[in-house]
Amino acid sequence: MFYLTEQFFSIQGEGKYAGVPSYFLRTGGCNLSCPGFGATYEVDGEVRYGCDTYFAVDSTYAKLWEKVDESITLIKKLKNEFTKIGYKPNMVITGGEPLMYHNDKTFYEVVSWLVEEGIQITFETNGTVEIDFDLYPAYQSCIFALSLKLANSGEPASKRIVPQALKNLQSHSKETFLKFTIDSILVESSAINEINEIRQILPELEVFCMPVGESRDTIWKNDKAVFEFCMKHNFRYSDRLHIRVFDTTQGV
Ligand code: SF4
Repeated sequence: MFYLTEQFFSIQGEGKYAGVPSYFLRTGGCNLSCPGFGATYEVDGEVRYGCDTYFAVDSTYAKLWEKVDESITLIKKLKNEFTKIGYKPNMVITGGEPLMYHNDKTFYEVVSWLVEEGIQITFETNGTVEIDFDLYPAYQSCIFALSLKLANSGEPASKRIVPQALKNLQSHSKETFLKFTIDSILVESSAINEINEIRQILPELEVFCMPVGESRDTIWKNDKAVFEFCMKHNFRYSDRLHIRVFDTTQGV
């Protein structure tokens, strides 16, 4: 059994496959909370801090999440969606942290079906969960966008950087790349040192950097600094197309 917070057809907005039409599954729950990412929200009068997908992270919202306890139901729905779309789009499985469910029977059945259908799957993951690729071989055919969190996430390094999990994902999957969300303050302070430390664990991976921002306003505050940072260090700049186009609207 796993939780979905939303599913929708859109265009991948960030990272290596930005611009590619993709069907999104967003799972509920995360093993981090990233209070430093600047999104504020209120629960029963209490102000909380989190990331731009706090609605898929904070279990207070679990009552709004869809419980998936039979793979066949979701597979039927996906078949219908693909018929309406007219082709089988790439899949993006994101969260929250989708790999929290990697060994869940229902979740793995859905992933295995997608792989059998020849659909390209990209997991957007914080890279902290270790997968047994022998026991769950379908993941060998998947792409992992390693969206590692830096100091600006507000999480301790020991929680957000798990070298063994990262090396495991790099060495057993179809493809991995690094994706960092940074802001103008981090650009001026520790970003390059933090990224270089991570590149010592994963030296051969492409690096994508994108601006912090859960809205157009906050992206505009950070994009120029991140753009110049990428030029200086030979990293790839990734925008956040879905936020540029739809601002704070969810499910697009
Ligand atoms: S790891 Fe990702 S989804 Fe989880 S709290 Fe941090 S930014 Fe949000």
